[in-house]
Amino acid sequence: MEKSKILLDHIYNGLTSLHTSRTGMEIHATNLIDFCPRAFLLCQREGLLYNDEEKIPGRRIITFEVGKAVEGVILRALQASGVLRPLTELYINVTPEIKVLGTPDGACILTIEDEVYIIELKTTGKDEIETMIEPYINHVCQLSLYLWMAEIRRAPYVYTDGFVVYVSKLEKKEGIKVYHVQRNEAFIGRVREQLQVLKTFSESGGLPTRICNSPTALMAKNHCGIPKICFKEG
Ligand code: SF4
Repeated sequence: MEKSKILLDHIYNGLTSLHTSRTGMEIHATNLIDFCPRAFLLCQREGLLYNDEEKIPGRRIITFEVGKAVEGVILRALQASGVLRPLTELYINVTPEIKVLGTPDGACILTIEDEVYIIELKTTGKDEIETMIEPYINHVCQLSLYLWMAEIRRAPYVYTDGFVVYVSKLEKKEGIKVYHVQRNEAFIGRVREQLQVLKTFSESGGLPTRICNSPTALMAKNHCGIPKICFKEG
């Protein structure tokens, strides 16, 4: 084998082992953005992992790791400015066995006597940052979940609003955009209802009705790993 090819193989092998996929039965705050209590309970019943991310190939791992590194630079910048604050673990116990975990990217103050705000960092693709006029709704929902979880945990943060920060991975005219985001109460209300359904059916041992009308419905196709199992069940 050519020496350069051997070296390239080592790089890809190393990249694959660097990346850790999310696997397990914990519900992460990001799972709640398009949540189906039936999917979770079916996984539990069938002995499947609710979070079972596939290993991603080397090229995509580079993109992922670059994103994490760029976010690390922003955190270091806030640290250097003296405004970064420690993060508190955020979680909700739905039942003694079912837990929702929330891991915001950072927390900071704006002025010395100010309260602590949660910040969520997102890296953007090629030209996205220059045309962006508002934060993506998924990111607003994600931040809203952290704010709500912080309130439940009585964490030392502001509960009503926070910041989503977009950073371009490439050098651009506008490299960073910051959006001040209010907690989306309608979304939190929906999540509360879904978690109540999860709790009720987890305790009774039944299954909630389907929220999809066919295995090819948008939610089933794009956000569910088990539509076939779901449509086999009554
Ligand atoms: S197919 Fe739809 S209703 Fe069924 S488990 Fe998946 S998301 Fe839920």
